[in-house]
Amino acid sequence: MAAEPKCPECQARGLQYIVSAVVTAKAPEAKPQDTGLLKRITQALSDTSGHFAVVYCSHCGYIYNVLPLYVYSVSL
Ligand SMILES: [Zn+2]
Repeated sequence: MAAEPKCPECQARGLQYIVSAVVTAKAPEAKPQDTGLLKRITQALSDTSGHFAVVYCSHCGYIYNVLPLYVYSVSL
């Protein structure tokens, strides 16, 4: 049985805590409850442009990876 992924930040365990969001560097989709997360995503994308998918922990907002949209394989 494969080990479940674990967040290095908050120790949340399991795939249900790993989610992805599609963002743009110029105009991220803002939701009121995502203020802290959006701030971190905007920071992560500060040196880039275009559309990206951000893979992050839904429990604490830890960012696992930021991927160009044409890349769909993720290694955790
Ligand atoms: Zn976490």
